[in-house]
Amino acid sequence: MADTFNTEKINTIITDATDEAIKKASDILRDGGLVAFPTETVYGLGADALNPEASKKIYEAKGRPSDNPLIVHIAYKEDVYKIAENVSNKTVMLMEAFWPGPLTIILNKKKNVPDSTTGGLGTVAIRMPSHPVAMRLIKESGVYIAAPSANTSGRPSPTLAEHVIEDMDGRIDMIIDGGAVGIGIESTIVDMTGDIPVILRPGYITKKMLEEIVGEVSIDKGLIESDSNIRPKAPGMKYTHYAPKGELTIVEADIHTEISGNGKIKRDLKDKKMLNESVVEKINALVAKKNSEGYVTAVIATKDNAASYICDNVLVVGEADKGFTISANLYAVLRKCDELKADYIFSEAFDDNELSGAIMNRLLKAAGHRVIKVES
Ligand code: AMP
Ligand code: MG
Repeated sequence: MADTFNTEKINTIITDATDEAIKKASDILRDGGLVAFPTETVYGLGADALNPEASKKIYEAKGRPSDNPLIVHIAYKEDVYKIAENVSNKTVMLMEAFWPGPLTIILNKKKNVPDSTTGGLGTVAIRMPSHPVAMRLIKESGVYIAAPSANTSGRPSPTLAEHVIEDMDGRIDMIIDGGAVGIGIESTIVDMTGDIPVILRPGYITKKMLEEIVGEVSIDKGLIESDSNIRPKAPGMKYTHYAPKGELTIVEADIHTEISGNGKIKRDLKDKKMLNESVVEKINALVAKKNSEGYVTAVIATKDNAASYICDNVLVVGEADKGFTISANLYAVLRKCDELKADYIFSEAFDDNELSGAIMNRLLKAAGHRVIKVES
């Protein structure tokens, strides 16, 4: 279903975010070209959102299925009213609380937003980013910028300009290097077209943070694993994503324990250390087996456990209880696995921090939901 790549090579300009570069990038955007730029979540691949030919080029450069809509980036809150309808009070409250920032809001679209930007949907996804380079570019160009993540479809999203260069050099007009992004995973998406806000993609802005502002918030059933036969409402969430080339398996402690006839209860903290040790032991056994068969292996670990693994490629992703350290490095670590040509990758689960919902959503997709549960 993915659109085929255009084979014609473009001479991609790769540059720092100088004033001159922002001016040049703005010209390119106004002329219907493609520019990759940093945001606080991941690097985006931008085009003029109201120019159907321009946004079509994004799908071509990424090899993105044409039913997967783009997020429109704006620089002023008032611009919401120029591209969306029925903006509710709750929507305004969320805009006031979280913009500029990593929250994407789904609203009914106005006619001026082309089908190629919304994947043919009657709704539009809108976000006001906080990254200074993104803001400068939207303001200077004077266009609303449609921008999905600047990776080839299916690969981990780019968190460094080097990642964008890997995927997009020769396919787009310009790449602006703004260094490492801050958050490292994509924005939270919340659908505001109904009475109750619905989270379509978890991100840095958590359900709890949204609820503190607008009261009840629900989660799209298509996102919950046991309901995986239900289609996610954000079209992008149904595709394989973020995946390294090797086979990734998550090895996770079974924190639930059986109690006689009565279902399951959560284990207490005392068991946690033991469970953690069982995970390390299991991963070491899996690595040893694959190495003995001649395969290249890698382990994705928290700093807390890294020293306990016996593997040539132990990749430290962050600290177990500090979600932002993990989100910032997750995609770079997944790309590193490709660089190492790892055939088999084993990862701990990172479910003990403030961002675990968003992090595990991405990691489970990268692993194609391959999970081994370990009991102590
Ligand atoms: P990306 O920027 O690459 O993370 O992709 C944008 C995400 O936003 C994808 O998962 C899309 O499916 C989702 N999205 C964009 N527009 C809409 C919309 N109108 N309704 C639901 N989801 C959307
Ligand atoms: Mg993406």
